[in-house]
Amino acid sequence: MVHTPARLASTPVSRRTTVIYVTALLLIAGLSISSHLLTSAIIQRQAATAGTVNMAGRQRMLAQRIFRISLQMADGSEDFVQARVELINAITQMERERENLLHGSVSPRILAPTTPRLQTIYFGQEGSLEDLGNQFLDRAKHLAATRHEEVSLSNKDLAAIGFLLQQKLVPALEASVAAYQADSEEAIQRLKQTTLLLLCLMLLLLLAEALFLYRPLFHRLRVSYDALITAARTDPLTGSLNRRAFLEECANIFQRFRRTGSPIAMLSMDLDHFKSINDTWGHATGDRVILEFVAATLSCLRPHDRMGRLGGEEFSILLPNTLPETAFALAESIRSTVASVPVTSDTGEELHFSVSIGIAASFPGDGDIFAVLARADRNLYAAKEQGRNRVAVT
Ligand code: GH3
Ligand code: MG
Ligand code: MG
Repeated sequence: MVHTPARLASTPVSRRTTVIYVTALLLIAGLSISSHLLTSAIIQRQAATAGTVNMAGRQRMLAQRIFRISLQMADGSEDFVQARVELINAITQMERERENLLHGSVSPRILAPTTPRLQTIYFGQEGSLEDLGNQFLDRAKHLAATRHEEVSLSNKDLAAIGFLLQQKLVPALEASVAAYQADSEEAIQRLKQTTLLLLCLMLLLLLAEALFLYRPLFHRLRVSYDALITAARTDPLTGSLNRRAFLEECANIFQRFRRTGSPIAMLSMDLDHFKSINDTWGHATGDRVILEFVAATLSCLRPHDRMGRLGGEEFSILLPNTLPETAFALAESIRSTVASVPVTSDTGEELHFSVSIGIAASFPGDGDIFAVLARADRNLYAAKEQGRNRVAVT
């Protein structure tokens, strides 16, 4: 029987896996940053639209103030000189703020009219906001420069100011506000859709990572872990349980015996004159003898019996739920099977070998499995004393 020791699985986290993992991580980071930037853009856009709408409202308010002061100058309800100063101030303020509205500004944040719809409202051919503003301010400036006695309720500039304000400027400003809000809505909608797309991409990426990276990775880890556990519990030459694993199993089965009282038996086995087999036929043939011994022994065992290699050519077998008579019969069958197995040496010659076996049964007074093991060892020693290739029981 040729025995191949359990191979450990290759390293579970390969370089390729690491590269894929880091790339996916960078992609997710990139998508998160983009999503964050887009959200900030949405917030800024909303703030800028609010600022712009506010500025349009101020233009309207200033235009109405200019008209009110002009009226007061004409009907004589206010001091003319004082009203003229107020008129000039209002005109200056409206001109200054108008610049921001027409061309945009950073502080306060005013959006420049960049879309075609807004461009038409602001700078179109007929009745544009720029043109109407110019006409309105020209009339107001002209009135401010008119002599006191020529300013009356029938003044043409006053009439034009009133007409432009009510019929042209206010509707144009309202149209611009509506256009800004519509543009802003569209832009925000686009940004929201893009953010949603990014979110979906991120989720897809995470799903792909879980399916194609983590799942195979965990599987490989599981396989490596199982291989490691098996290697830690197995004797590399024969594949039997090693000393530690065998004693662990024995301790568990012994606990069950103490709970249920179900009988257990232990066989201690040692190959006879093994040193001389090594010396005569060589170490490699000695190894082969050990392997043949294990194969022959396993062929006699039942599925629930446990076999362990405790030392060089020393093995033990734990027989759960087994009466001493059955254990003796099993030991005898192992001994005779082993004695009949031929092994071919390196030089092609056939040799035979034998095993001595000591048997012990569990007693209710046994404190642990080592008590049973020690009795089986004593009987093994007796079997050796009695001439080897035999089974001894007390
Ligand atoms: P006895 O009948 O009294 O048991 O005599 P023995 O020669 O079998 O006893 P001893 O314990 O003196 O010899 C055991 C030998 O087994 C010594 C050691 O070199 C050899 N041995 C231990 N492990 C291995 C192994 O894995 N392969 C081989 N080929 N030899 C081993
Ligand atoms: Mg020995
Ligand atoms: Mg021996």
